Amino acid sequence: MFEIIFEIIIVFLCGLFFGSFANVCIYRMPRDLSVIKPRSRCTQCEKQIKWYDNIPVLSYIFLKGKCRGCGSKISIIYPVIEIICAILFLLMYYLFGFSYLLPVFCIFSFSLLVITAIDFKFQIIPDELSLLLVVVGFGTSFLNYTLADTVLQRLIQSFLGFIVGGGSLYIIAVVGKWVLKQDAMGGGDIKLMAGVGAFIGWEKVLFAIFIASLLGSIVGFTLILFKKIMRKEAIAFGPHLAVGSMLTLFLPPPAVMLNTILIFEEQLLFKLFLR
Ligand SMILES: [Zn+2]
Repeated sequence: MFEIIFEIIIVFLCGLFFGSFANVCIYRMPRDLSVIKPRSRCTQCEKQIKWYDNIPVLSYIFLKGKCRGCGSKISIIYPVIEIICAILFLLMYYLFGFSYLLPVFCIFSFSLLVITAIDFKFQIIPDELSLLLVVVGFGTSFLNYTLADTVLQRLIQSFLGFIVGGGSLYIIAVVGKWVLKQDAMGGGDIKLMAGVGAFIGWEKVLFAIFIASLLGSIVGFTLILFKKIMRKEAIAFGPHLAVGSMLTLFLPPPAVMLNTILIFEEQLLFKLFLR
């Protein structure tokens, strides 16, 4: 019991600090700045932020959301991102325990969080993050028991996920452009789902795209209904893809899922016709 509480605290604190780093990435990556140096500065007065004013969530509370130097307002988004990152890390702990897959899927959820925030605000997905997903996803696939049983099967499944994830969106992009005579899908979305596929395999990546499309239609339709956007205006698809991808982690393995659907279908047919 004590051990579990200790692990939860460690994972939560790691989540907060990586959330803090996520904020750095979200601010700097779309502006083509280095995420490593220099140290963080106030975006208003450009004064370097001291380490004790840079503690996740706590500093925001102590400083009452204002810069110590110039008193300008610090966005509430910063502590919110830190807390979301900590919650995502805890969810990964819930799924994988204190195992070698924990850091792997913490990188997965960290990347998706940063991508969601950047795509939402700037309508771009930095290539570095998609590349990170491809490299980590494929590079650790031999350990990833959620993909398949044997090492060889896992490598193949990860590679197929990469191909199917990127490929299916590429086909949608080509067909969409041909039918709608405008860009339906960004290149960033294609690279993102290639990376996601390397983590979750080809069946789940298709399911992630399906959830994302469903979510995107609902959000798009709601926005048009309340006249927030015009009918032809594009909404960022990245955040929907990221949410869809995260949700697939909580689904049972594809084989079990297919089995459940088949059993359900069988029962339904039985009830309808064979009573
Ligand atoms: Zn300042």
